[in-house]
Amino acid sequence: MTLPRVGLGTDVHPIAAGRPCWLLCLLFADADGCAGHSDGDVAAHALCDALLSAAGLGDLGEVFGTGRPEWRDASGENMLRHVGGLLAAEGYRVGNAAVQVIGNQPKVGPRRAEAQKLLSELLDAPVSVSATTTDGLGLTGRGEGLAAIATALVIPAE
Ligand code: MG
Repeated sequence: MTLPRVGLGTDVHPIAAGRPCWLLCLLFADADGCAGHSDGDVAAHALCDALLSAAGLGDLGEVFGTGRPEWRDASGENMLRHVGGLLAAEGYRVGNAAVQVIGNQPKVGPRRAEAQKLLSELLDAPVSVSATTTDGLGLTGRGEGLAAIATALVIPAE
């Protein structure tokens, strides 16, 4: 019997004043975004990492890292599309995925439905979005960075 496979992913980036805030493949106009090799979308990156993990296809650094200059400034949306293609080429489809954003800003709640719809369309599977703070503790609590954790379940075609 072919069993589904789970995976996990984590990402953290420093917040950089004035940088566009891309998170969950959405632009949050009123928040400072994250610095990084790509657009700094920690949620999209954690999801990509979880999907690669589930399919046994390595990790984000291997696929999109600084050794791959063609992915410099890439959008989270393009990265998720690319990972979806890698999974399909290996005979996997996504069962579902979940991502949790950890940080003070931006506030995810008001745009949760929008993010879930967009991400679910991108992965052709249900994606749940949640968010939390760390009660003022640590790098996310001090507003120095944003973090995200994701899980994904993939289903082998056969
Ligand atoms: Mg990242």
